[in-house]
Formats: sequence, C-alpha cells, structure tokens
Amino acid sequence: MRIALLSDIHSNLTALDAVLKDAAGRDVAAFWHTGDVVGYGPDPDAVIARLRELPASGVMGNHDAAAVGLISIEEFNPLAAIANEWTARVLAAPGRDYLLALPRTRQDGVFTLLHGSLRDPLWEYLSTREAFDAHFALQKTPVSVCGHTHIPMLVQREDDARLHVTIGEDALVVSFAGRALACINPGGLGQPRDGDPRASYAIVDTGASTVAFHRVAYDIAAVQARMRAGGLPEPLAARLAAGR
Ligand code: ZN
Repeated sequence: MRIALLSDIHSNLTALDAVLKDAAGRDVAAFWHTGDVVGYGPDPDAVIARLRELPASGVMGNHDAAAVGLISIEEFNPLAAIANEWTARVLAAPGRDYLLALPRTRQDGVFTLLHGSLRDPLWEYLSTREAFDAHFALQKTPVSVCGHTHIPMLVQREDDARLHVTIGEDALVVSFAGRALACINPGGLGQPRDGDPRASYAIVDTGASTVAFHRVAYDIAAVQARMRAGGLPEPLAARLAAGR
C-alpha cells in the first residue's frame, strides 16, 4: 500500500492541490498529515475542507493548537504570532472543530504520526542528536513520521544507536527496511525551508518498506497575492519564493 505523507501545509491550498495532482499519478491509496495544517498562509478553511474530502488522517501541530486556543502564542516569533491571530480570526466553525479533534500522536500499523517529536509532539524540533535519541527511545513502532522542521529527511537508528541521516532530495527513493527504527519527515508542503521553494511531500510503500521524496512546482505568486490581499505580513509571502 502506498501512502502520501503531507506535513506543514500551512494554509497553502495552491501547494496542496499541486501535490494532490502529482500524487494522483502515483497510485496512492491513503493520505496522512503530520500537522501545521494552518498558520502562515491564506487558505485555512479551504485546506481543511480538502483534507476532509480526501480524507486524510493526521495529528495536531503547534500552529493548529494555537489557532484554536489550546496553547498560547507567546512562544511564537512575532510574524508567526500575527499570522496565527489572523488564522484564529478567519477560521470558520467546521475548521475549528477539525483542528480541535486532531490527536497529538496517532498510531496506524507500524507507523506513529506526530508533529514535533515524541518527547514534545507540539514544540520540539528534531534537529539534534540528543533530540533524536530521546525521540527514538520513546518510539514504540518501527517507523515514525514527523514534521515541524520543514526539512525532508529520513533518519534511521541502528540497534547500537548509530544514526543514519538521509536528506530527502527530489525523486530519491530510500529503503527503511533492516534498520531498527526510522523517522521520516516529508518536508514542508506549504512552506519549504531547505532552499527549494517547490512543495515537498513523500510517499511510503508499506510493502517494499521504501519512502520516495517528491517536489512539486506550484503557482507561488497566486498564494502571495492572496496573502497580501488578506493582510498577512509581507515577509511571510516573500519567504515562499525563497524556500526559507
Ligand atoms: Zn510548521
């Protein structure tokens, strides 16, 4: 079975639709997301409606939690806080209900989904050796799927605790069989941060134990125009074109 992994969509419907069109040609049977459905971008309700249609199952990110008042925006940087207040203001009731119902972790077969890390599903960035060690110590299934850093990668842990890090470049297919534990980050769909502005996602093949990373070009200018029209901060629109 082939499952599309979507993370950090960040209210970017144009990027999401481009990814769904790309995935439609790749024999995908299910869609999972690892949070930050909203925040930063201009289309929170439309993105949630699309995820409901698919349907996609997923988990809550820090931007989702803050948009519905579950956590404070004090920890957010100033621009993220402005965008989060904007999102909370425009979000309609069905979108709000959808975000409130998202769990912080979700287990499905050999996979565990979460946004940040298993130690701190909403906030922690899996970007240091220490963070990965703590994460893998809590991982009860062979594979976890995370998000939050917006950097596509596969990290595998050997029985002797050695880590192998593979950056998820476009069209790369990697096996995660034979290693004790794996953690997949499909990258930032709606706001990539690795210098490549194209939307990032991944497809796992559960039979072959492989993950394929994909990048998809989309109409960034159209999203920027909606952000400016909606009054979202200019630097958040500009960064989409830089992929940072
Ligand atoms: Zn995010």
